[in-house]
Amino acid sequence: MEPLLQIIGLSKSYRDVTVLNNITLTINKGDIYGLIGKNGAGKTTLMKILLGMTELTSGKYIYNGIENNSDFRKKCGAIIEKPALYPSCSVLENMKRYSVLFGGTLEEINKILSLVGMKEHKNKKVRELSLGMKQRLGIGIALLGNPELLILDEPVNGLDPTGIIEIRNLILDLNKNMNTTVLISSHLLDELSKIVSRYGILDHGNLVEEITSEELKHICKKKMIFHVDNVEKSCNLLNEKFGIRDILIENNTIVLFSDFENSARINKELCYNGIQVFQVIINSESLEQYFVRKVGE
Ligand code: ADP
Repeated sequence: MEPLLQIIGLSKSYRDVTVLNNITLTINKGDIYGLIGKNGAGKTTLMKILLGMTELTSGKYIYNGIENNSDFRKKCGAIIEKPALYPSCSVLENMKRYSVLFGGTLEEINKILSLVGMKEHKNKKVRELSLGMKQRLGIGIALLGNPELLILDEPVNGLDPTGIIEIRNLILDLNKNMNTTVLISSHLLDELSKIVSRYGILDHGNLVEEITSEELKHICKKKMIFHVDNVEKSCNLLNEKFGIRDILIENNTIVLFSDFENSARINKELCYNGIQVFQVIINSESLEQYFVRKVGE
């Protein structure tokens, strides 16, 4: 994994109120990085700092290996809060107005409009568009200049289920086929979980955790936990008697991800072989439950 953007010890205060506190996180090339946190956690502020829309109080960022590299902003496309569109202009006119900043051609504009599924609506006025279409146009504008990093602040907020699926598929498509790295925020972990490769969990301006989607899936998998006095002997036994190989060892516990129906037999076998079993727990945690455990209700 090659880092695209490293944020190191970044803090932001408004007067004497700290809204971001010593944030350190890494967005790797090719990531869809999900910033997750409740309203007011500091997600938009972090994105605004990256885009130069507000000043940081302390800290730094390293882009492509260079400290506080302002080139970074030239390689960013973004929607913060909601896309700024001209309501009485058509989709195409909006794209043309913004493309002036990048010297884009009509061919490029049409290519992007196809990509975001707006080509057939290109002559519609913005005020006639659905919320989902406006959002797709916003992403289209953000894609002008072929950005390396796309920053999307709550892009599915307020969309109906169809609109959400469209935006989700669009982000996945851009990431896979155009190699665009994406930084996306949401207060809905379940929604982010469908696309994100890595999460940063923010709470009251603090980074609670950085975790990959694989790690999170593993944590939230259904599992059976045996608290025993001899983990090594227990593992060997489970291997020999039940053919179980996927065993995680955590301190004095062994964690299994299969064979739930055999819990009583496993317990009996462990005891029969002189292993003390102090506790057996079977549990699974939804993504939302995990999030609540980290940041509270
Ligand atoms: P999120 O995007 O996670 O909902 P924000 O980054 O918008 O959170 O806000 C984080 C905190 O910073 C909130 O408490 C908010 O009230 C505060 N805040 C945001 N902008 C300003 C500002 N311009 N002046 C003072 N406080 C602000």
